[in-house]
Amino acid sequence: MTADQAVRPGTGAADLAARAAAVLPGGVSSNVRLATARTFFERGSGPRLWDVDGNEYVDYLLGQGPAFLGHAHPQVNGAVTTAVGRGMVFGAQHALEVEAVEKLLAAVGWADMARLGVSGTEAVHAALRLARAATGRRKMIGFAGQYHGWLDTVLMAHGPDGHRPGSAGQPPQYLADWVVAPFNDAEAVQRCFEEHPGEIAAVIIEPMMCNSGAIAPRPGFLARLRELCTAHGAVLIFDEVVTGFRLAFGGAAQRFGVTPDLALYGKAVAGGWPVAAIAGRRELLELFGTGKVNHSGTFNASVMAAAAVSATMDVLRETPPYVSVEEHGTALMTGLRGIGERHGVPLHVQGLPAAFHVSFRAEGAPPTDVVDHASLQSLDLARYTRFSRTLTTHGIWVAGRGIWYVSAAHGPAELADALERFDRALAAHV
Ligand code: PLP
Repeated sequence: MTADQAVRPGTGAADLAARAAAVLPGGVSSNVRLATARTFFERGSGPRLWDVDGNEYVDYLLGQGPAFLGHAHPQVNGAVTTAVGRGMVFGAQHALEVEAVEKLLAAVGWADMARLGVSGTEAVHAALRLARAATGRRKMIGFAGQYHGWLDTVLMAHGPDGHRPGSAGQPPQYLADWVVAPFNDAEAVQRCFEEHPGEIAAVIIEPMMCNSGAIAPRPGFLARLRELCTAHGAVLIFDEVVTGFRLAFGGAAQRFGVTPDLALYGKAVAGGWPVAAIAGRRELLELFGTGKVNHSGTFNASVMAAAAVSATMDVLRETPPYVSVEEHGTALMTGLRGIGERHGVPLHVQGLPAAFHVSFRAEGAPPTDVVDHASLQSLDLARYTRFSRTLTTHGIWVAGRGIWYVSAAHGPAELADALERFDRALAAHV
């Protein structure tokens, strides 16, 4: 070892993991990443990633969703780079923020107004506050297995005996206003309304559940929620942090043809830049405008956020990726199922082409259609989590929880590579 090497910190993954573990709790900056604490990426481009040790991956995690246009999209990054040359945060308004929200509303289609924030968690927080202020009620109906961020008021763990705090240090009374129903069960939601007459401020739902499996709503389910909310004077909130701009330009609301009162966007809204949005009906959003309801944030609608949203909306409008995403995802889902069959492995692949879930059925169990968080538990989720590590070593970057996201940048080369790598990984796994 030279004197220079002795003082230069290591930059391979093993060295970085050791350095990270010393200064970052768990070696990571978000608990969602604890399982992948030893992976360090050097760069991403389009649908691929390269780690610091030179390994290349086809990426189906997309940073947990944001890289819907692929990594380092030149038009989005170019727009942000140009814009920040004139300053980044003014503590006042700027033209780009108006332009970004105008374009976002044009994409969403049904909403009158929106505000930009930084994280999906905050957008959820703002929506729940708005709903409570607008209705003068406290209770919320939510769905087992959904994730609406990590704050005390929304983080939940779900078991057969109901919901409980999802973290140590989270006071249980913060969850006291939740009434939790199974996804896809409109009758259960109706019962919730009947058991709490005049008390429900809002129903909040991931219109397609992507934080527990990838479970599309049954036909008529979202429409029934719409009817129930209207009948009972409650606010219908779509948490489109995952589905927004992914399932369609107008998100799940467009894809499933149901209009909420409020919707939250994040992830795909800004080509990978940290932005979220709350959009909805004028009379609700105006509660922010009158100052009655507080929604604040130093970095809300920063120059980079506004430029990124504006450019992302341009890209999605000018070169809509939805057909290619649908084709790629369909071919991938079909291909993965075929590989499972060839290996005699009970693979379970479910969802929509833009966001689907891969897992294993328990040995000997018949094919099943997962409709909610409880039925998801019939799958061998732990086996997939182990297998996801094998996928990683074979050059496919995916989440341990089984979700696969397809981006606008995935093409035939990625499809071929992914299927060939998955095949080898499954052979190594069985
Ligand atoms: N809502 C949903 C449906 C999510 O999937 C997430 C994050 O994964 C959030 C809200 C929270 O968003 P963020 O991580 O940007 O705070």
